[in-house]
Amino acid sequence: MTSRQKSHAAFARAKQLIPGGVNSPARAFGAVGGEPIFFDRAEGAYLYDLDANRYIDYIGSWGPMILGHGHPKVVEALQAAIGKGTSFGAPTEAESQLAELVVEAMPSVEKVRFVNSGTEATMSAIRLARGYTGREMIVKFAGNYHGHADSLLVAAGSSAATLGVPNSPGVTAGTAKDTLVLKYNDPAALEAALAQHGKRIAGVIVEPVVGNMGCVTASTAFRTALRELTARYGALLIFDEVMTGFRVAYGGAQAVFGMTPDLTTLGKIIGGGLPVGAYGGRADIMDHVLPAGKVFQAGTLSGNPLAMAAGIATLRVLRDENPYPQLQRLSAGLAEGLESAARSAGIPCTVGQFNSMMTLFFNPEPVTDWDVASRSDTKRYARYFWGMIERGVYLPCSQYEALFVSAAHTDADIDATVAAARAVLAGLKESM
Ligand SMILES: *Cc1c(COP(=O)(O)O)cnc(C)c1O
Repeated sequence: MTSRQKSHAAFARAKQLIPGGVNSPARAFGAVGGEPIFFDRAEGAYLYDLDANRYIDYIGSWGPMILGHGHPKVVEALQAAIGKGTSFGAPTEAESQLAELVVEAMPSVEKVRFVNSGTEATMSAIRLARGYTGREMIVKFAGNYHGHADSLLVAAGSSAATLGVPNSPGVTAGTAKDTLVLKYNDPAALEAALAQHGKRIAGVIVEPVVGNMGCVTASTAFRTALRELTARYGALLIFDEVMTGFRVAYGGAQAVFGMTPDLTTLGKIIGGGLPVGAYGGRADIMDHVLPAGKVFQAGTLSGNPLAMAAGIATLRVLRDENPYPQLQRLSAGLAEGLESAARSAGIPCTVGQFNSMMTLFFNPEPVTDWDVASRSDTKRYARYFWGMIERGVYLPCSQYEALFVSAAHTDADIDATVAAARAVLAGLKESM
């Protein structure tokens, strides 16, 4: 077995100082068991842990690193920015430059406000939807993740159209009851909920391609229902493109689907690996945000010059080099390779893939919603995960997270990954 002695020691120390030893639970390997790996550095498509083991990285910091690690243009932009000051708490031109790139990429976004994380973006977009409409309720979908704001940390109640219940201690029942949680890809459930509560619903927030229950795509019928029904009932349609923005296409999922949401939330890639989020949309809605309007939202480090520089450099490379066809080619090859590896091992599976987002579900059914996703064989996934780690492939530490291919991955990386998967999956069937 590969030595991870230094990671083990680092984790032991971290646990003394930080709850669970990590600053975000997705890093703790809770779903696959064992200890998290501590990293020293990253380069291109590779991660190097404290014990100098190398891994092909399919996490890309959970999405931001679409260009791979340490892209020269991003590093150069950061070096230039750092010499000029790391934070002013006052406006800079870089904020308008990044805003312009976002607005040009997404026609639905006429104005945009930068924040520091995806969580802040969705939280602020929800507040704006409520402030703009004067309504209180919001709709979300089971299996979609929108960060950890109270009103979005809500689970479905006992029947499909009942009011939400807190999904974490600390979220009050009062907050949760203003969030309806519906089944994803179910136009009838959305129609029924809006028919019942329509005039009270401020907004419907949705991942147009879900990464957070594994990779699941919104069906055409669901997408049509989202746009038509929100418009009919006067609720805002909020596309949470924190993951998909500049990932599934330069203009995000909305460009691929030809849709015009009222508000869009962004994060991850637009910070190029530094902490950034954003929310934007129609100018008449965005002008309700303080100081143009009355909906309060602020941030000491919002629009931070380093974060803006990394984001601008990343988006310019994506715009000018258009890696998306190449990402699609590599990802389709990986999807096919993983699926065939599982099938030749006699392991039931389906693959969800949308450009460079992908999940190998240990589940014989096509995964369209959380009910189906939750029937996946997570024990088998855990063994697959550790088998791949042993062979130098770093995958999501949960069946319910998408993997990401980056522009730094090569055909050789994909081939090596598929070969590793063949070996690991062949072993899994026999020992079941
Ligand atoms: C990651 C993510 C968030 C939360 O972003 P953070 O920066 O982690 O707060 C919100 N929505 C979606 C779709 C995400 O993938």
